[in-house]
Amino acid sequence: MTQPSAALLASWAADLFGVAASATLLPGELDWNVRLDVEGVPAYVLKVHHPATDPSVLDLQDEILAHLARTAPEVAVPHLVATAEVSFGGHARRARLLEWLPGTVWAEAGPPDEARLRALGSAVARLDAALAGFDHPALDRPYRWNMQQAVALLGDASSVDEALRPFVHTTLGGLDQLLPALKALPQQAIHNDANEHNILVGPDGGVAGLLDVGDVVRAPRVCGLAVALAYAQLGHADPMAAALPVLAGYHAESPVTPQELALLPDLVDARLAMSVVNAAVQHRSDPENSYLTISQRQVRRAIESIAREPRELREARFRDACGYRPIPRERRVVAWLQSAACDPAPVIDRNLAADPPLVLDWTRTDPTTVADVGSQVSASGRTFGLGRYREDRDVYRSDAYASSRSEGQRRTVHLGVDLFVPAGEPVFAPLDGTVHSVAYRSDPYDYGGVVLLEHATDDGEPFWLLIGHLGREVVSSLTPGQRVRRGDRIAWVGAPAENGNWPPHVHVQLFVTLLGRSTDLPGVIERADIDVWESISPDPNVLLQMPVSHVPDRDRSKPELARRRRANLAPALSLSYADPLHIVAGDGAYLVDADGRRYLDLVNNVAHVGHGHPRVVSALAAQAELLNTNTRYLHGTIIEYARRLAATFPDPLSVVMLTNSGSEANDLALRMARTATGREQVLVLDWAYHGNLGSLVEVSPYKFNRAGGSGPGPRVRVCELPDPYRGRYGADGPRYATDVAAHCADTPPAAFLHESILGCAGQIEPAPGYLAAAYDAARETGALCIADEVQCGFGRVGSHMWAFEAHGVVPDIVTLGKPIGNGHPLGAVVTTPAVARAFQTGMEYFNTYGGNPVSCAAGLAVLDVLRDERLMAHAAEVGTYLAAGLTELSTRHAVIGDVRGRGLFLGVDLVEERATRRPATEAAARVVELAREGGVLLSADGPHGNVLKIKPPMVLTRADAETALVTLDRALAMVGDVTA
Ligand code: PMP
Repeated sequence: MTQPSAALLASWAADLFGVAASATLLPGELDWNVRLDVEGVPAYVLKVHHPATDPSVLDLQDEILAHLARTAPEVAVPHLVATAEVSFGGHARRARLLEWLPGTVWAEAGPPDEARLRALGSAVARLDAALAGFDHPALDRPYRWNMQQAVALLGDASSVDEALRPFVHTTLGGLDQLLPALKALPQQAIHNDANEHNILVGPDGGVAGLLDVGDVVRAPRVCGLAVALAYAQLGHADPMAAALPVLAGYHAESPVTPQELALLPDLVDARLAMSVVNAAVQHRSDPENSYLTISQRQVRRAIESIAREPRELREARFRDACGYRPIPRERRVVAWLQSAACDPAPVIDRNLAADPPLVLDWTRTDPTTVADVGSQVSASGRTFGLGRYREDRDVYRSDAYASSRSEGQRRTVHLGVDLFVPAGEPVFAPLDGTVHSVAYRSDPYDYGGVVLLEHATDDGEPFWLLIGHLGREVVSSLTPGQRVRRGDRIAWVGAPAENGNWPPHVHVQLFVTLLGRSTDLPGVIERADIDVWESISPDPNVLLQMPVSHVPDRDRSKPELARRRRANLAPALSLSYADPLHIVAGDGAYLVDADGRRYLDLVNNVAHVGHGHPRVVSALAAQAELLNTNTRYLHGTIIEYARRLAATFPDPLSVVMLTNSGSEANDLALRMARTATGREQVLVLDWAYHGNLGSLVEVSPYKFNRAGGSGPGPRVRVCELPDPYRGRYGADGPRYATDVAAHCADTPPAAFLHESILGCAGQIEPAPGYLAAAYDAARETGALCIADEVQCGFGRVGSHMWAFEAHGVVPDIVTLGKPIGNGHPLGAVVTTPAVARAFQTGMEYFNTYGGNPVSCAAGLAVLDVLRDERLMAHAAEVGTYLAAGLTELSTRHAVIGDVRGRGLFLGVDLVEERATRRPATEAAARVVELAREGGVLLSADGPHGNVLKIKPPMVLTRADAETALVTLDRALAMVGDVTA
């Protein structure tokens, strides 16, 4: 049946749906599709279905769209507007009017970057998750695009081009064996067709939506993922490089299990084979279809490159992208190699456990200069030279080291250990085993004489040891299958003429799988593949047993770090900045990134006396060298520290308990207060944050009242924030405290807990007179008062050592953290003898790390530096200067609503309008990004994220403050609010 004209389809749209539009034809396999533009703007798609289409399938599609609109409105699919019947050429056809989804189809959006590929994975995951609750009888219809029925396509395999037929036969034939595993996975409705014409790319380059629910079937969701991977690979020289980000994006949204990953390579292949067969069948009936020819060319290329990579390696890569150990057997093999059951003999005639080697560095070595290793070893007085495992080397420059996976890349990372001894020395089998294979590989820079030994753990797990660069005679002295015993001499170290032209050495490399290869296994791989190959070829030192690790540090690029972070760290950890910083060093008030750029750090009040302060560092190192243990022994450092710390507090605060963090200190403080009073209830200030433990999220409105929180629990009462800027009583502190009295009257609490200046709430110092009145109200009912000085303590406020002192109150318990150890994890509770006594119930308080001598040494050093460098006075002086500068900026930038704080604990409240004080959240985020571009690190916080927090290391100089002001001035001007 010839397709009706666009004009006719437009007239149907008008007649059936009352839509007056111009129509443009869209491609379709069987259906007729047009885009309908209303007043020149694309508005709808009209689909007129083939008369032979099963009505239950049309019904399925309608119901899916209705389901998605109802249950997952955030998943972008075209919404169904209306359906109708139309008669044409004597056949009744279903016509469906769908909303037009804006965007460019994937196929026309240009080569995707990693972010777009990830977005595709996450879009498919979200759509399939939304479909999980959907059911319809037609989901199980016989369908040639349902992978679980794809074995049947073998019947059409004869239509397939001869070159691809073996692939089709093996792949589809192999599906039979996968079916039981597939059937064991939960079945659900899946989109099943994320191909390049069904994915919409938005103007920001991300994935804007998925089209076409015509292929939805019931299947395990991994089948839908396989479809997305299969198509994402097309057109890429390195198909895996495209597939992996899609998988990672899917996994981040909807975790993929190892069982699913074990099926994935075969399912990806199955989809490609299905595409080949279905296209061949279609080609028979429509030989002119050029689209088919082009896409099949890409499919063929993908199949060819996939065929070059062993299936096991593909699964390993998939597992790695999801953060699983690439080769699961590695764990068992390495565990056995490290166990007492494994007692290897030395591979060469040296005492590797005792003789220190000359460690070679080939990271920047020209290949022409490596020849004289032997003389370097002799000159060093060492007995052998060592080439390092995982070293990224510069010596591999010949064509033999060009990457076969991606053009322009090279293989540079060494996966064995090289032991340099003179040619002709004997080489021994370290364990009982058999010769798997032996060869002489004569190409320059290849292995020369090489043997692959096969071993097994006591549980029968096989593993292999490759020893290369041997003398040529090894091919005649060893034969495959031959048994070798631990300690047997099996070969001699080769001379350059027979070892691939290297200085004499042996290359020793472990393998936990052979990937279908033997003595041609690579000893050097691409840098991008290290994570996968570290699992295939673990560090052979488990066998060599040198007492010192000679593995160089891993130097990862930013994208690699981001990838690994996503795969192996929980996504609840956030990163600052749209383009996160890769910080590798700290120096005073500065942080340094991997490119050597220095950033002025206005965020980090933890590095209180400056990043990497030499006195703190050497105190830590000296004590760590001498002793680190717990509080169950007498030790002078903890006593000295407790006395020194207590001496900074007003009476009667004199008893110290040490913990590992501010959170732990707050948790302990609450336990003490609850034990001392026999009560449970805790009063806290609105928007307060007290820590990350369960007990503290419970008393932190900043957490329980924001994203992911579940509101206040029964043991907490939230008191009105005495915020002089936004609070309803302005600066009238005592008036806010009536709220504390009211809560106390209702249920007498265990404690009134407060930050002395609220940090996360937006650098808010309680209105004058509030704390004194609140303390009175709380104490009247017998409650204890706890001051959380984790953020603002240790002289930061300039006027006092502790911020509560500025309010004329003395708490019953004070909690400390962050700056206390200048970055070393330490926390403290300081309390009165009475509270400490009341906490003595007979239950021991033991904290493995709390109070250890190393932490106490760090704490002491911080107190010393504070004193000797007069940092409190310095904070007052530089803080005053900075605050004055910020106030001056506020005369020129109307976006600044308020400048507040004390010393070097300042806040700049950004507002959209000074009159209403409406928070300028977006402006704050922009300023933070712009300041970072200008080399100054800031953060924005508060319930609305509109307060710039300034709390730098206390060593910030006046010149640094000036730099900060100039940068802020520029950033504020760029957010477009100069009033002057
Ligand atoms: N109290 C306050 C006021 C804090 O700001 C924080 C940390 N931001 C904590 C307690 C918890 O400290 P830590 O993260 O060291 O456990």
